[in-house]
Amino acid sequence: CSSDITPVFTRALAFGDKVAIVDQHGEHTYRELLGRSLRLSREICGLLECPSRDLREERISFLCPNDASYVVAQWASWLSGGVAVPLYRKHPVAQLEYVIQDSQSALLIAAQEFLGKITPSAKRLGVPVLPLPRSGGDGPTSSAALEEGSLPSCSSWEDRGAMIIYTSGTTGRPKGVLSTHRNVQAVTTGLVEKWEWKKEDVILHVLPLHHVHGVINKLLCPLWVGATCIMFPEFSAHTVWKKLLSTQAPRVSVFMAVPTIYAKLVEYYDEHFTQPQVQDFVRAFCQENIRLMVSGSAALPVPVLEKWKSITGHTLLERYGMTEIGMALSNPLHGVRVPGSVGSPLPGVEVCIASETFGGGARSYAVHARGDENGTQVTPGLEGQEGELLVKGPSVFREYWNRPEETAAAFTPDGWFRTGDTAAYKDGVYWIKGRTSVDIIKNGGFKISALEVERQLLTHPHITDVAVLGAPDVVWGQRVSAVVQLRRGEMLSVRDLRDWARDTMAPYAIPTELIVVEEIPRNQMGKVNKKELLKRFYPA
Ligand code: ATP
Ligand code: MG
Repeated sequence: CSSDITPVFTRALAFGDKVAIVDQHGEHTYRELLGRSLRLSREICGLLECPSRDLREERISFLCPNDASYVVAQWASWLSGGVAVPLYRKHPVAQLEYVIQDSQSALLIAAQEFLGKITPSAKRLGVPVLPLPRSGGDGPTSSAALEEGSLPSCSSWEDRGAMIIYTSGTTGRPKGVLSTHRNVQAVTTGLVEKWEWKKEDVILHVLPLHHVHGVINKLLCPLWVGATCIMFPEFSAHTVWKKLLSTQAPRVSVFMAVPTIYAKLVEYYDEHFTQPQVQDFVRAFCQENIRLMVSGSAALPVPVLEKWKSITGHTLLERYGMTEIGMALSNPLHGVRVPGSVGSPLPGVEVCIASETFGGGARSYAVHARGDENGTQVTPGLEGQEGELLVKGPSVFREYWNRPEETAAAFTPDGWFRTGDTAAYKDGVYWIKGRTSVDIIKNGGFKISALEVERQLLTHPHITDVAVLGAPDVVWGQRVSAVVQLRRGEMLSVRDLRDWARDTMAPYAIPTELIVVEEIPRNQMGKVNKKELLKRFYPA
């Protein structure tokens, strides 16, 4: 065995008494978290009867609040040689059971407050439960326990499974995506480099911790560089604004969220920060103290981007990623961020846009680029052409857990991961047009991007949220249908909408149907399940 272990731990050891996490229980240093993790990993290995503390990728599910205990459970799983499978506390029991069972977890770690919810399921599934000690209640960690040599060693950690994250289930049953330590590290270091993470950074974390956005971008990146992560138990517009504008140390320098969270923060601002001098303060404070604000996980509506800019002076940095590939494309930290685009490939990431779908292995590219090389190869005459976005590189996952056929189908014969998203390269940057299966609407001879129609409709003064669907149509194949949420007290007819859109939208892209709803159903990451919406409004 080499003394190698993922550098997450050797780095954490070196950060020592620096504060890693601030949560509802107080401050937690890197040393404390490492000590707690080592202790928990001993318990894990004891329970699983593995005295060598070198589990062979056994899956360890854990159910923790958004606080330091999450880091302890994840690190303890890794220190034991296991695969971390984070569960989401708000999921109904059936969904938690699905993940525990589908991942074939050998063990379930649960925080005290969730034992009541999850223990009966674990019993039924025959999975042992390891309760976490109450947060903050497990005493100081002696530094003697934290000599470098006390970190367990294991060979070839790079290719071992690090975590199974379930996809959002937007297009079907969530799939368990197994990423190795190499994959996770590639995403982390790519973002650290591109967004210039440094140890002085302080990030405010308000997202769930069972998706890449919350796990890697907002947690593993700061922990990689020795920065501080303030973890809120959950999102509330009031407390987020309060913390963003607080002079109390540690002061927030980085913020990341999904588009719906930005929309909620804008709504709160409009209601509560009505005085000009308050607005001036907000803008000046954000300009002075915050260096980076990022949006991702779903398309960022341009009106939200513009409003956010007018409130805080920050142009949100939009990026594109997926559970299977981590982050792939990003607008630049310095330089121009093009509204509506997702920038260019991150370091180490190779992308191409397939201008033809694969038939018998034949393929042609519209565009091909590598994040750490200069220049993008564009096939003459194909700039702007839409096609499936394909990705290669060290961040691409190893497999869908226990789904060999789906894993094989997700890759081209020459090893590209098929994202299932349609993209285009234009004006030197990449644009996501939507999911090929639901967002690319085929209306007669036209291909319409639902995301682009949504962007346009969101500029209508009465519309606060929208999901555009391709409704089945016997004549045209599909017709454009808009499900909209309106500003309180407003009304809108399809004729009004069509009149309004006439001057700005292509005639075939203007919705011919309008469905007004109280609220567009979105999951906790702000994503709309369009297959479900289609089933609801257009049952077969
Ligand atoms: P499932 O794979 O189970 O259907 P999902 O694809 O929503 O769910 P995730 O891996 O969480 O699960 O989400 C990745 C998807 O999110 C991408 O394929 C893309 O469609 C969308 N996405 C992420 N970032 C952006 C962005 N900036 N703009 C547009 N879409 C985005
Ligand atoms: Mg997906």
